[in-house]
Amino acid sequence: MTFSLAIVGRPNVGKSTLFNRFVGKRLALVDNQPGVTRDLREGEGRLGDLRFTVIDTAGLEEATDASLEGRMRKLTERAVDMADVCLFLIDARTGVTPTDELFADILRKRCDHVILAANKAEGSAADAGVIEAYSLGLGEPVRLSAEHGEGMNDIYTHLMPLA
Ligand code: GDP
Ligand code: MG
Repeated sequence: MTFSLAIVGRPNVGKSTLFNRFVGKRLALVDNQPGVTRDLREGEGRLGDLRFTVIDTAGLEEATDASLEGRMRKLTERAVDMADVCLFLIDARTGVTPTDELFADILRKRCDHVILAANKAEGSAADAGVIEAYSLGLGEPVRLSAEHGEGMNDIYTHLMPLA
């Protein structure tokens, strides 16, 4: 375990799909650890020869509409504060939303290393969303498909210097 990675972003962008790809079956629920609720899932991530702790903000699925924004903020801040690097996902098929812009602001303030990834980017339907992601001001987006495993080599290139 050389560094810790938090996967953040609004609900339904593919965070848990990516978490599962990193972790496989090596999942540890962390609700017994002080300061960590069951809303965060932690596992031993692997990518090529890299080994790292990966954190998923899993509790967002259960939030009601009324509580969602505050809950997203709290969970994200907790995950970010635990992590050395933040992997920020947007949905390339939807494009950039106001909530994505809110997340970008939080990450700019709180996270030393941010990797921006435009997920669900398999196929040409995602091209416009990938381009739109540049507007978040977090650099070049990784073109990612967590479901199909595309773009993992670019994630590796970003993570390798941190190991
Ligand atoms: P989370 O709420 O951010 O944790 O998102 P999930 O991982 O639960 O995924 C939300 C939905 O997006 C699910 O139906 C996934 O199957 C789908 N999804 C995740 N990654 C991809 C992807 O790379 N491509 C496509 N087309 N769908 C994806
Ligand atoms: Mg999830």
